[in-house]
Amino acid sequence: MSLNEKRICLVIGGGVAAYKALDLIRRLREHGAAVQPVMTKSAHEFVTPLSVAALAEKPVYSELFDLKAETEIGHIRLSREADAIVIAPASANLLARMAHGLADDLAAAMLLAADKPILAAPAMNWRMWAHPATQRNIATLSSDGVRFVGPTKGAMACNEHGVGRMAEPADIVAAVEAMLTGSGAALAGRRVLVTAGPTFEPIDPVRFIGNRSSGKQGYAIAAAARDLGAETTLIAGPSSLPDPPGVVVRHVTTAAEMLRAVNDALPADIAVFAAAVADWRSEVAASEKLKKGKTGAASLRLVENPDILATVAHRTAQRPRLVIGFAAETENVIEHAQRKRQTKGCDWIVANDVSPGAGVFGGDANTVHLITEDGVQSWPRLSKADVAAELMRCAALTLNGVG
Ligand code: C5P
Repeated sequence: MSLNEKRICLVIGGGVAAYKALDLIRRLREHGAAVQPVMTKSAHEFVTPLSVAALAEKPVYSELFDLKAETEIGHIRLSREADAIVIAPASANLLARMAHGLADDLAAAMLLAADKPILAAPAMNWRMWAHPATQRNIATLSSDGVRFVGPTKGAMACNEHGVGRMAEPADIVAAVEAMLTGSGAALAGRRVLVTAGPTFEPIDPVRFIGNRSSGKQGYAIAAAARDLGAETTLIAGPSSLPDPPGVVVRHVTTAAEMLRAVNDALPADIAVFAAAVADWRSEVAASEKLKKGKTGAASLRLVENPDILATVAHRTAQRPRLVIGFAAETENVIEHAQRKRQTKGCDWIVANDVSPGAGVFGGDANTVHLITEDGVQSWPRLSKADVAAELMRCAALTLNGVG
């Protein structure tokens, strides 16, 4: 049984698809899982707690301020005692509350306190699904590490037709299996190393040389590698992004620290260098804050930082099978990137236009060209999460000998 001894906390949201949660409980249990149900108040309108409890053979929890449950179980313990949390159906309202960090009922409070993998199966009217507000919430949750299965396209209870139907229970079970065991995942058993964010090079205790990289693209790549079942390490320069769940994160500040952390994290099958490493550092980092000079002008002597990508790509021992670099260019993007692939010795370069009008730095979208020895693939404008997923999908195909 693929989910033997796995403990699933199943959150049932309010929606017509809640009736399918009963079948889901049955199937999860058939696969060996123990299911602890939590229902939102509106879920009670669609399915009775009695049926849910009978199928799960567990009491149903709903109330945040149910003293008995809070003393016996508590919203913290619910997630602590689970291996994974599944939300089915995940209503538009529940997803919105999660995306905004609300904790206004037991389900939301438990989800906010959770440090376990979360899989959501959205179900709603197709217009609600397509609404930019829902799509924003999905993007936020996805960058928070929440995984999704569905929704699918089909007939809806409201007599309309479109994308918004909850995934079938069998597909939800398969997604839970993939999430918990990595089975069938394209990068299962592989090690992926990703660098992300800027580096800060100290001038003195309060000043540094840095850049505007947000880390979003690299963090998304680490999450995408994890989603494909890879054992993933993210070496991150200073960034305000939360650590992606299920990824080993090493925080560093300078290029020298990043290089050390990368070497420590090897061997890896795939290494992706998405960090915007500072090219130079101050030759000396003053131990005290520098004072304004009487002469007015001050000068800083810069020395070159190690090129982490080139160092790893030129290794003879422990060179990852696929070394991927990024090239942020403001002009002749493809040409410069092709040259960079040669000089750095990497296998692939992901080239992007970072000229001020392109909105790449700090933004959520990216327009990239994938440069390999076979040529150039120009991808359409995609979210950084989609660029990451596509890049890891291509990497998995190459590593697995397809393509
Ligand atoms: O030379 P340039 O900075 O344009 O190269 C970009 C690529 O090289 C990126 O993949 C970046 O992560 C990597 N790089 C690095 N170490 C440096 C400079 C760049 O790993 N010192």
